[in-house]
Amino acid sequence: MKSLIIILIALFTSLSLVQSDEFRYKRERMVRHQIEGRGISDESTLKAMKNVQRHLFVPEELKQNAYDDRPLPIGYGQTISQPYIVAYMTEIILPRKGQKVLEIGTGSGYQAAVLAEIVDTVYTIEIITELSNSAEQRLKKLNYKNVYVKNADGYYGWKEAAPFDAIVVTAAAEFVPPPLVEQLKDGGKMIIPVGSPFLNQNLVLIEKKKNKVTSKNLIPVRFVPFTRGK
Ligand code: SAH
Repeated sequence: MKSLIIILIALFTSLSLVQSDEFRYKRERMVRHQIEGRGISDESTLKAMKNVQRHLFVPEELKQNAYDDRPLPIGYGQTISQPYIVAYMTEIILPRKGQKVLEIGTGSGYQAAVLAEIVDTVYTIEIITELSNSAEQRLKKLNYKNVYVKNADGYYGWKEAAPFDAIVVTAAAEFVPPPLVEQLKDGGKMIIPVGSPFLNQNLVLIEKKKNKVTSKNLIPVRFVPFTRGK
């Protein structure tokens, strides 16, 4: 009887190891094919994408699809972005140790976790209370001590914590919210999808240099809408 129990424990332990290995394998393959394979080369971005366990940021029933080359639903009509887009938006702001970054659209907390692997502090704002609460709990459980989550309309930014080295907006706005431009440091970068809800959106890179603001259209994308209120 005793040896049977030991065998069963050994079996379950090895099964759970196989499971976590299975996700590690899937994650490494995702980074190789979907991210490096499409030209992302920033070392810190690649390392962060390898570290963050994306399967812990999606609904239980979608765990097996967490490393697929597409966005996934996270409830409340919202989505976690496609891995490549997360990596693209991360690389473009040139995140480094010592920096402070603001994200608008916490969603699952995945993009915030990727940024938190690299920079010193991440401030992230989510307008849907339930998503904000669950992301905050998830990030806490995963021990991301350098992420602050706020439930509010991100249009106004996070004045008390400004200015930011970079701002990452993960919902599509029809125009760039002026308070966000204001809260960008001199020399800072903001990446934001701009366009009409669900169609004709572009990722736009905004740069502030000597108080001059420039903007550049990068790639066509499709994000959930930036909503207002709260
Ligand atoms: N970055 C997320 C994906 C976000 S989807 C992740 O990694 O999972 C976009 C999110 O932006 C949604 O959760 C949506 O509720 C939120 N959002 C939309 N408008 C917003 C606003 N004005 N302020 C804050 N969050 C907003």
